Amino acid sequence: MHTESIELIAPAPGQSCRLQVLRFGVGHSARKAYIQAALHADEVPAMLTALRLKTLLQALEEQGQLLGEIVLVPSANPLGLSQHIHGQHHGRFSLSDGINFNRGFPELAASIAEHVRGRLCKDAQANQQIIRAALKTAADILPALTPTQDLKRRLLQLAIDADIVIDLHCDSDAVVHLYGLTPQAPALSQLGAQLGAQAILLATESGDSPFDEACSRPWLDLQRMIPDAEIPLACMSTTVELRGEADVSHELAHQDALALIGFLQMQGFIAGTAPEKAALCEPTPLSGSEPITAPSAGVIVFHRQSGEKVQAGDAIADIVNPASGDITTLRCASAGVLYARCSTRWAHAGKRLAKIAGTSLARTGKLLSP
Ligand SMILES: [Zn+2]
Repeated sequence: MHTESIELIAPAPGQSCRLQVLRFGVGHSARKAYIQAALHADEVPAMLTALRLKTLLQALEEQGQLLGEIVLVPSANPLGLSQHIHGQHHGRFSLSDGINFNRGFPELAASIAEHVRGRLCKDAQANQQIIRAALKTAADILPALTPTQDLKRRLLQLAIDADIVIDLHCDSDAVVHLYGLTPQAPALSQLGAQLGAQAILLATESGDSPFDEACSRPWLDLQRMIPDAEIPLACMSTTVELRGEADVSHELAHQDALALIGFLQMQGFIAGTAPEKAALCEPTPLSGSEPITAPSAGVIVFHRQSGEKVQAGDAIADIVNPASGDITTLRCASAGVLYARCSTRWAHAGKRLAKIAGTSLARTGKLLSP
């Protein structure tokens, strides 16, 4: 295991901020898998899983079982980890500019399309090398004026030339679920089965440029921009939500790390055969994911738990007005799996209370939570 430390732009004089990068299997092959945890800073199930994965990968490397390079960033957001207001941690948005740490990543296809257009041919393997080199250069020269921009640029630099990118997060109160690109459903289903995912949400564009899409979607965008060249989807990337923020145990971390090892075996990065696991769900379109939104402020009383299957019209939650006693019952429009709920029990008007992976809706615009 090679350990690197990347110094980020300092938040203030006298302070320093570093990213720890662990590399396994260096020099084994040209193939690379990149795994990071907790881009939203305090996503502790993801961090604990990454730590467990580090231990397992160290042992596998000592046994000569690694067949490709695996890069692991166990805590991907040291900036966000230091953000507190009056004793409460805030890791989702940068407090300096209000921007979500996992939105607004640079979309590199447009910046390299003209550069590579005349050099591509009918040889997919040659085109992959040309595009990958151009993406890496484009990531290297991204402007970074603030610590947040610097963090995003550094993470993208580490991942942009990988064949597999796994971005480990957690939700508020949830079952395991994945996000990824629609054409990559087969590999996402393999990973989902290993992890026991109960929802796999697919889109060709979610609308807000999260990290996983910044790595994978350039290939899809370039296929569209340069249709006469043979361009492979050379990066399979996914956001993995490892249940809810309180689902933290050594047993779960070990189970999830083993599942990631199994997927890396299936993808040829680690020797050996992954255990057979039956899929718990079929992928569904992200556009069919239904947010249950509070129409007014009040106390949230849930009728259904994360992981339950629901039917169209089922009561999901009540909003109780503590002044009048009025109760508003919120029902879902679609059938599917209730895969995530908020973890607090006070709603403001417009708050997303729960999400259902269904197939009957066709939302447009920005499909992810803010
Ligand atoms: Zn997250």
